[in-house]
Amino acid sequence: MAKLSLMMMIALTYGLVMQSPVDGVEFVAPPEPVAQGDVTQIVIKGMTAGSKVEGSWRGEPLQFFETAQGDYGSLVGIDLRLKPGAYPLEVHVNPPADRSWTWRKNLEVVDTDYGVQRLTLPEGMVTLDAATLKRVRKEGARFSALWPKRTANRYWRGNFVRPVPGKLTTPFGLGRILNGEPRSPHSGVDMRAALGDPVRAANHGRVILVGEFYFHGKAVVIDHGWGLYTMYFHLSQVKVAERDLVGKNAIIGLAGSTGRSTAPHLHWGVRLGGARVDPLALIRATEG
Ligand SMILES: [Zn+2]
Repeated sequence: MAKLSLMMMIALTYGLVMQSPVDGVEFVAPPEPVAQGDVTQIVIKGMTAGSKVEGSWRGEPLQFFETAQGDYGSLVGIDLRLKPGAYPLEVHVNPPADRSWTWRKNLEVVDTDYGVQRLTLPEGMVTLDAATLKRVRKEGARFSALWPKRTANRYWRGNFVRPVPGKLTTPFGLGRILNGEPRSPHSGVDMRAALGDPVRAANHGRVILVGEFYFHGKAVVIDHGWGLYTMYFHLSQVKVAERDLVGKNAIIGLAGSTGRSTAPHLHWGVRLGGARVDPLALIRATEG
């Protein structure tokens, strides 16, 4: 009797946590450790058609899509300033004819050095007057309010593409110290673009924000669904309106130097599940 209850306890403890995977089903976990600002993909191979897969990363829901190879995949975004450490990744699989089971793993995130840029500028360019500060805060809040929304529709398909062909001029993640004061790190990439060059949507999506902002200038934000957003800053002209559906590679605006910018270029940024991630990592994670 005592033995049986011990076995039952083991079954309860380990049964839920570590049930064996179904034959032929294979997890391809992201290579570790994972860099801050990275986009990584979890893949589940050999799933029976009609299986339901759900998951979470740090308690935030993950959604799964069918990959080009017919596997189940999900994108995981690691915020640029996520504290290094091990964070729980959980995948729950529910095959149509088999028992459901859960796979759990800690994903190790490491401190990633993207370099630091020290700039000295005239104080007047750095210190904002009260009215400008108020404007900047209000604009920042408009952006922040967008990220928690997870649109149920997935608009994006296949790989993400570069919005302009130009080379990177300022990399992702660069820390900035302005007149000795640490500022927000560069949470996107700056790409070379001439005034008036077409800027294209990185994937299918819905335009959810169009406006002119103090730092970002003329800007467009596209919601690709499932908590994935791309943003395009410093445009000279915007060619879309809020609520427009756009296709991958559609021209959404023209490059420029509006907002706080010294020369025409495109600042391209990505948010995934609220995390500030490297746009080029999103391209890498979705190609092939
Ligand atoms: Zn930039």
